[in-house]
Order: sequence, then C-alpha cells, then structure tokens
Amino acid sequence: MIYKRSSALFNEAKKYIPGGVNSPVRAFNSVGGEPIFVKKAKGAYLYDEDGNRLIDYISSWGPMILGHAHQPVIEAVTEKAKDGTSFGIPTELETKIAKLAVEMVPGIDKIRFVNSGTEACMSAVRLARGFTGKDKIIKFAGCYHGHSDSFLIQAGSGAVTFGAPNSPGVTKGTAKDTLLANYNDLAGVKKLIEANKGELACIIVEPVPGNMGCIIPNKGFLEGLRKLCNEHEILLVFDEVMTGFRLAQGGVQERLGVLADIVTFGKVVGGGLPVGAFAARKEIMSHLAPEGPVYQAGTLSGNPLAMAAGFAMLDELNKHPEIFEELEKKCIYLHKGLTNVLQKHEIPHSINRIGSMLSVHFEEEPVVDFKSAAKANNETFKKYFHGMLKRGVYLPPSAFESYFLNNALSYEDIDFTVSALEDLAHELK
Ligand SMILES: *Cc1c(COP(=O)(O)O)cnc(C)c1O
Repeated sequence: MIYKRSSALFNEAKKYIPGGVNSPVRAFNSVGGEPIFVKKAKGAYLYDEDGNRLIDYISSWGPMILGHAHQPVIEAVTEKAKDGTSFGIPTELETKIAKLAVEMVPGIDKIRFVNSGTEACMSAVRLARGFTGKDKIIKFAGCYHGHSDSFLIQAGSGAVTFGAPNSPGVTKGTAKDTLLANYNDLAGVKKLIEANKGELACIIVEPVPGNMGCIIPNKGFLEGLRKLCNEHEILLVFDEVMTGFRLAQGGVQERLGVLADIVTFGKVVGGGLPVGAFAARKEIMSHLAPEGPVYQAGTLSGNPLAMAAGFAMLDELNKHPEIFEELEKKCIYLHKGLTNVLQKHEIPHSINRIGSMLSVHFEEEPVVDFKSAAKANNETFKKYFHGMLKRGVYLPPSAFESYFLNNALSYEDIDFTVSALEDLAHELK
C-alpha cells in the first residue's frame, strides 16, 4: 500500500492543527507511524486519499453500526438540510426521536439531547449532584467518560495512550471529588463508599467498558453496584455512549438486565452526526432546567440534521432487532477466526468479546480491568496493527480501544481479515 498523499496531508495538517488531528487517538501515537487520511467510506470499507481500500473495524468508534453512508441516514440528512440547518427554536423531530429513544431504552422517561458524549456525561454528573445534593463521584480506572475535568483521572484509551492520565489543567479541587475504583472490584467500591459516607452523588461506569479494550463485567459486578447504590442513596450512572443502541436496542441495561438511574448516550444515537444524550426517570429529569434548577443548555442541541440522522438510525434499529443478532454472529465468527490463528502460532493472547464489541490483548492472563489491560504486550500490538493495515484491515490504532463491528461487514470480509492475520502471524512471535 502507498500512503504518499496521506503523509503529505498529515504534514500539512500538523502546521495548522495541534498534532495534525482534532482528537488525539487519530494521530497513531500509541502504534507509531502516520495516520491515513480518509477520502470516503461506503458500507464496511474506508477509501483513503491514496486510493487504498480498507475493511473498517472501528466504524467511526461506533456510530456507523449499519455501515458507512447508510442510505436511509444519508437521505434523511440531505432532505432535512434543504429546510435549513439550525433554528435555535423547537422542532417536532426532537420529540419524535426522544419518544423513540424512551421506548427503546428500559427505565427512562425523559431524555435531553446534547452534542457529544462528553457533554452527556458531564451533564449527567451535574444532574446527579443537583439531585442528591452531594459532591463526590466514583469512577473506574480505565473508564472514559469524555474529556471534561472531573473524568480525566485515569481515563482510559486516548488519555492513557498519551501518558497523561491526570491531564494538566485539571485542578486539584476538581480532582479531589473524583474517587477512583478498579473495574470488577466490588469490595474496593464498598470500601470507598464506607470511607465517604453521605458524600457520594453517583457512581459512573461504562457498564461494559470499551476504553481499555473491551472488558466484560464479572457476574454480579453490575448487580452489586446497583445494590450498593440503593443502600447508600447514590445514583448509578451508566455511560452507554459506546454500548447504547449497540449491545441491544436498550444497551447494557437490556442485555444484562441491570438498570441505572441515569444513562448517557453518544455515538450510535447520532447516526454519525455530533450527538449525545442523557436520560433518566421523570423525578430525576425534572431537576433539569427549565423544569428545575440544574442548568444545562446548548445552541446546537437537537440540531435538525443531527436529529434526522439519529432518528433514521434508531428507527432502523428499532424496526430490525435482528441486526443485533446478525452483528453478534459476525463478531463470534471473527473471534473464532482470530483465536484459531493466534493459537496455532502460539502467540499469547486474550480476546474479550460481547455483542459486536471485541478486543485483542497480547497477554495470556484474562484481561478484566485496567491493570491487566495495561500488562499486555504493546510492541506486539503495534506490529499487529501495522501488519493488518498493510494488508487492508483498519483496526483501532490503540490497544486500549475496542473494535466496533458494522453490519455491512460480510463473512468474506471477516475471512479476509483472518487470512491477513494468518499471513502476518509469523511476525508477531
Ligand atoms: C466516546 C465516549 C465518550 C465521549 O464521547 P464524545 O462524543 O467523544 O465526547 C464518553 N464515554 C464513553 C464510554 C465513550 O466511549
């Protein structure tokens, strides 16, 4: 493959954009080398500026669950654009998508749309604090909830990759209200609660983390969090920005049967446009302005183009629940294929998978939390990433990121991916 034009574009971008990118993980810092620049995408494929075709396993980090440039979404957006792109005045479409989301997701009565997952999580925690009148929050090492100050404490993926788990610019005052626990360690959470009795507003968690690779909750972990929250009048916030409308119509809440008090969304909910959302039952949401005193706002929130894309996406997922099964079958097929090759070549690995999320860790021990994810061999991962890229497969450019399958992916594409690994395997020893 040739990357001549991508390389030139990257050099030009670096002159005007910090690091040449508008979000750090895109810069390939953790795998080395230079990013490819995308010209267009269709279905399961990316086409870069040099004319290479790549099978895409990140699906824009999740949103393109039905594949790129999916017809109903593109049509909805182009039609909507003709009527004007922003008003700052209510539109009917906002209610339509809110109603649909409330129908699809268990346990929520009302939803507020914002412009990113970051905003959704930031607002969810403010709402939790406003509702409970308490300040402190618990988050888990390796979980990412966007880049707002309270969350940049061992924040997974981008933040970890860049060796700045506690970013400069986050004040000590803010950091002291964020308590850190280890994922899948219920006893640790219990201790933190005991030590901070009466001070905790919420526990925020990626119920299935995807920002330290994909991690599977141990049996009883989420149920245990739910129980602890009930006992201590703490709100449980599920950050379903990755998992919402992906692991099931109703996300992890539906799939694993544990309900949160507040749920956040992003990625799939916007169908590829900048959208986030947070939702809860009525008595919590009624604390939000203008109904209640907790302030939250957005000039472009509920933007017609974004809502058109989001509605087209959710509508399709709602009408075709079989999509989730199809995706899971493909992901199991990929899981098996990759496992076979890695076993055959005796390459130490541990693959985590749930639904259409998967991650490959070059580490023999089970990967269950941030510590075990960080133990994996990053040198092998780099070779794996670049070897696959060279063979036409675009994987997440960091060992701390999950794969997100899209349903445009065919079994032939997966076979191609597995044979690329077979071809590459001898280099990974
Ligand atoms: C991507 C992500 C966010 C942040 O969403 P942005 O739209 O990038 O701001 C928050 N939480 C989780 C779990 C995410 O994966």
